[in-house]
Amino acid sequence: MNKVEAIVLRTVDYGETHKILTLYSAQMGKIAALARGAKKPRSDLAAVCQPFTYGTFLLYIGERQGMGTISQAEVLDSFRAIREDLFKAAYASYVAELTDRFCADREPSPSLFLLLQTVLHYLTDEDKDPEVLVRLYETKMLDLAGIRPELYHCAHCFRPVETSIRFSILHGGPLCGACHQSDERAVWMKPVTLKLMQTFQGMDVRRLGQTRVGDDVKRQLNKILRQYLDEYSGVQFRSRGFLDQLHKYEI
Ligand SMILES: [Zn+2]
Repeated sequence: MNKVEAIVLRTVDYGETHKILTLYSAQMGKIAALARGAKKPRSDLAAVCQPFTYGTFLLYIGERQGMGTISQAEVLDSFRAIREDLFKAAYASYVAELTDRFCADREPSPSLFLLLQTVLHYLTDEDKDPEVLVRLYETKMLDLAGIRPELYHCAHCFRPVETSIRFSILHGGPLCGACHQSDERAVWMKPVTLKLMQTFQGMDVRRLGQTRVGDDVKRQLNKILRQYLDEYSGVQFRSRGFLDQLHKYEI
């Protein structure tokens, strides 16, 4: 038996009454686990098998390193405030999907666990801008995926950039003043947008204070990070569509 602290990234129904959970745990990293009977409302596991729930799980894991089976579990934090808010739930789904897609099975990372836990916690905090949190998380995921952009040198001539007005997806980084025409599809950005991206790369998420980022900067960050992720990760994110729909109709 293994006792792990974990966050539920995803749940999939299995048969009439069971669920298969994708957990991200502090001790074992990402792991799949079968929750028998968890779809029954009166099951002891029903509450803990909800997306984004943080709990302790007692897992039986066979020798063949396959899926674990949950024998007992206990909720430590249900993050109910996230599930009850359409926007927060959409952001959290995207954070969970990023984690799921970029983490290999059974590769523990205590720092990533702490990051995920902190971001979910901050999503429930009205002082923290969820969009900024998600951009910060995306930046951290680029590191994990091994596609961290170089933000301190021009992506075309490699000289240090003090300030940059465009970001080139093609070259994979900011362009200096002399090179900004080297990629006609490069995205325009304010100097503060690049500064923010640089800050995100080195930032301990727990130190994120109250965030006030202008809408234009948020739009630029979204555009740059999305295009960059699409180009270099090759992953199609299911949860993004829902997030886009919400913003489109401003529910
Ligand atoms: Zn240059």
